Amino acid sequence: MVNYKDLGLVNTKDMFKRAIAGKYAIAAFNFNNMEQMQAIIQAAVETKSPVILQVSSGARKYANQTLLRYMAQGAVEYAKELGCANPEIVLHLDHGDSFELCKSCIDMGFSSVMIDGSHFPYEENIALTKKVVEYAHQFDVTVEGELGVLAGVEDDVVAEHHTYTQPSEVVDFVSRTGVDSLAISIGTSHGANKFTPAQCTRDANGILIPPPLRFDILEEIEKEIPGFPIVLHGSSSVPQDLVAQINHYGGKLVDSIGIPEEQLRKAATSAVCKINIDSDGRLAMTAAVRKVFVEQPGEFDPRKYLGPARDTLKALYKLKLENVLGSAGKLAK
Ligand SMILES: [Zn+2]
Repeated sequence: MVNYKDLGLVNTKDMFKRAIAGKYAIAAFNFNNMEQMQAIIQAAVETKSPVILQVSSGARKYANQTLLRYMAQGAVEYAKELGCANPEIVLHLDHGDSFELCKSCIDMGFSSVMIDGSHFPYEENIALTKKVVEYAHQFDVTVEGELGVLAGVEDDVVAEHHTYTQPSEVVDFVSRTGVDSLAISIGTSHGANKFTPAQCTRDANGILIPPPLRFDILEEIEKEIPGFPIVLHGSSSVPQDLVAQINHYGGKLVDSIGIPEEQLRKAATSAVCKINIDSDGRLAMTAAVRKVFVEQPGEFDPRKYLGPARDTLKALYKLKLENVLGSAGKLAK
């Protein structure tokens, strides 16, 4: 049993409180390997931003849970080495699907877990979430629950349609489970194909414009639970220049559409204090790797393509922290 505090990690409590009061949001970036971890930490340090390192159950299978845990511990020391005296780094389980998985992560030094019971009937979601909260809070680990279901595909999490969060349920859910934050469904979705062209309109240049997020539902939720930390999953913007670069260098991404950044900026000024971004990072790395493979086909040193992939990812994440989330310069000290 390892407590995250011994690893130099923090839970989400204090950073969320400050984010809501300061009208910005904390980024949760997923990681599966060293280059992604380096890019996230470099971006966070250079922008003086608190950050959430997020691990999905797919990442645990891919990279090994022990390695990920030590990488997060290494991330804290790395941030200090890069000049950040008091980094605020959360190690968070994304989409935990069972009590056992959440417990195992907490026992291994995670400072925050998500228990996603959103696909269960309401009462089952409450019972499962409450059980995780009761265990996690013994160790001061924060817990994110979810009400409503996002459409799209993210590792093992798949749903065909949105089920929007019902504002009438949030007070009951939050008070009976004791969760520290709540993921909601207001029109964001997982993956790089968040909408079909049929769901979108086109602007004067023929560019697809996705349907707006349901800010009306968000406002109703905020009225029910004022000041309570809200989380948005599936919030990549799918930058079209990255999609174009991937396709230019031999990729085949079709109908890739994300959430416009100005909508995320607007959400960040509300009680939304955690915004999950994964697909954009995948696109950035893929675009950079494809470019090297096409332009330098004789190259076979992994550092020569993973290095540019890491640099592209870091640049993207810095822009997100500065221009979309607004968390730059928001470290406590
Ligand atoms: Zn998610």
